[in-house]
Amino acid sequence: MTVHKALTVAGSDSGGGAGIQADLKTFQELGVYGMSVLTALTAQNTQGVHGVFPVPPEFIAQQMDAVLSDIGTDAVKTGMLFNSIIIETVAKKLKEYNVRNYVLDPVMVAKGGAPLLVTEAVAAVKEHLLPLATVVTPNLPEAKVLTGMEKIETKEEMKEAAKLLHDWGAQHVVIKGGHGTDDIVTDLLYDGREFVELSAERFHTQHTHGTGCTFAAAIAAGLASGKNVREAVKQAKVFITAAISHPLGIGHGHGPTNHWA
Ligand code: PLP
Repeated sequence: MTVHKALTVAGSDSGGGAGIQADLKTFQELGVYGMSVLTALTAQNTQGVHGVFPVPPEFIAQQMDAVLSDIGTDAVKTGMLFNSIIIETVAKKLKEYNVRNYVLDPVMVAKGGAPLLVTEAVAAVKEHLLPLATVVTPNLPEAKVLTGMEKIETKEEMKEAAKLLHDWGAQHVVIKGGHGTDDIVTDLLYDGREFVELSAERFHTQHTHGTGCTFAAAIAAGLASGKNVREAVKQAKVFITAAISHPLGIGHGHGPTNHWA
């Protein structure tokens, strides 16, 4: 039996809807053996992030060494990295172990507004992580911060942002359209040559906590099982669309997406 393996390097969401918990659930659902390196703990529920406790960078390095020197992995996804020292530590280990199939989810702010990346670390994401990324998956606000563009609303602006991120080293770019206002949500995939549009009907719900984490983890799971980027992104879009459209309805705030859907 061939075991496909994926590693998430991300923050913990005690409420189980986002972060490493969402990633591991996604890996499991998509038939991939999941591993996790914790970068930060959050005290969190559907109502918000109540506290953040970053893990010391030396211990993040130790976790990456432990996993990668023994078990190895077929793909890595990074999520909440919080500060530039953590980003540099993770980038160094990704290079040291020659990790391929790296999905960079440039997590910045939780839906409730809590910062998951300090502002001064954006430059480190661009300098250290973009050039290593097989796929980067910004939503519209993240794409704006990364590119410095004033607005990204139209398809043409999405294409311009994707080109910039590709020029700065990401092999593939997926700009997620979910933060827009159209009834049809379109994500744009760019591989440096052509654009592929992935569209789905907007599902009006407040239960979208962890969608970004889940989508990026699903791409990593696809790559880990040997799919190419386009197939992996298409599978992830189907997975996240099902997860959003069958909300669990738990908690008193923004509930999690449904990984069983
Ligand atoms: N908490 C952690 C640890 C995360 O990694 C993320 C997203 O990446 C979030 C919270 C934010 O989730 P959302 O913005 O979907 O509520």
